[in-house]
Amino acid sequence: MRPLVADIDLDALRHNYQLACRCAPQSRSVAVIKADAYGHGALACAQALEAHAPAFAVACIEEALALRQGGITTPIVLLEGIFSADELALVDTHGFWIAVHSQWQVDALLAAAPRQPIPVWLKVDSGMHRLGFAIEEAAAIWRQLLAAPSVASLHLMSHFATADAQDSRYFNQQMARLQGLASELEAPLCLANSPATLAWPVAHGDWNRPGVMLYGSDPLEVANNITRQLKPVMTLRSEIIALRELEEGEPVGYSGRWRAPRRSRIAVVACGYGDGYDRHARDGTPVLVNGQRCAIAGKVSMDMLTVDVTDVPDAGIGSEVVLWGSASNGEVLPVDEVARYCDTISYTLLTGVLPRAPRLYH
Ligand code: PLP
Repeated sequence: MRPLVADIDLDALRHNYQLACRCAPQSRSVAVIKADAYGHGALACAQALEAHAPAFAVACIEEALALRQGGITTPIVLLEGIFSADELALVDTHGFWIAVHSQWQVDALLAAAPRQPIPVWLKVDSGMHRLGFAIEEAAAIWRQLLAAPSVASLHLMSHFATADAQDSRYFNQQMARLQGLASELEAPLCLANSPATLAWPVAHGDWNRPGVMLYGSDPLEVANNITRQLKPVMTLRSEIIALRELEEGEPVGYSGRWRAPRRSRIAVVACGYGDGYDRHARDGTPVLVNGQRCAIAGKVSMDMLTVDVTDVPDAGIGSEVVLWGSASNGEVLPVDEVARYCDTISYTLLTGVLPRAPRLYH
């Protein structure tokens, strides 16, 4: 069989979740498992966390239904809410919670007569300028929903644009707007994503919403003592399937972007952009060969990529190659580091791994 797999370490997932809880002991942490748990497999991750997490968050009802069909009975909140009024019937049947960010959703909720009232997170736009009600209009809507028989409970929800950044000015502006509104309404809050969970206790609310940190990625611009304890959950692992000896100056791969700076040994690895590995990976992007750091040499192809293993004498056909995650010798290559070489973020690399790399759960 083709030797590419995405190993998923469910103990690491539980460890990271507990770390999120320890960062915010006064809050409950909803585990964000949208986008197939950031590419890790939502059902398997939900099963691994269901004894620990009081709720899960997904983007939309399709993701929530898949979890219910898989036997998950934990509360599930739909972060983007409903996409049509009809969905409220399914929300009711399955006991989902919903975020509400637009007037038509409020109207649908006020007109609905669910069998059991629905827990609602009212989303306000405190500065992200994406989804949510303006701070100025939120109080009136809050009071309307609070009085609605279709609403079981209300939380004030918002999302931060810059909680990962060292520069706290914009975060503080968002926080100040939210604090004003929350104290006027005496509203319980749900604000903190991973970076705010990790770095901004002031944003910890009744609920927090950590996502990417659960998968072991450090979302902060500058790592801290807590993020250094995160463990990678996904290891994208393959093997060397061929080796080449090149003379100095000989090119490798499409357009010959990389040229051997000396007599070089090039390993061909069974992983390419057809598996979801980022084609923008630059020459020099790290991989671990037999647990030793090596560099990508040449453009990533659809089914394979090429690595300079000149300095790894024991590299041979079948040698382990870790694209990110943990090697068998314990060496770790953080997905965040690979992302920097691809001019992207860990979120896109993790969610981008295609089914051609089967998930293996441990
Ligand atoms: N809350 C909302 C509304 C989100 O959209 C996301 C992720 O995009 C999260 C929480 C989790 O964010 P993170 O993965 O940065 O922790």
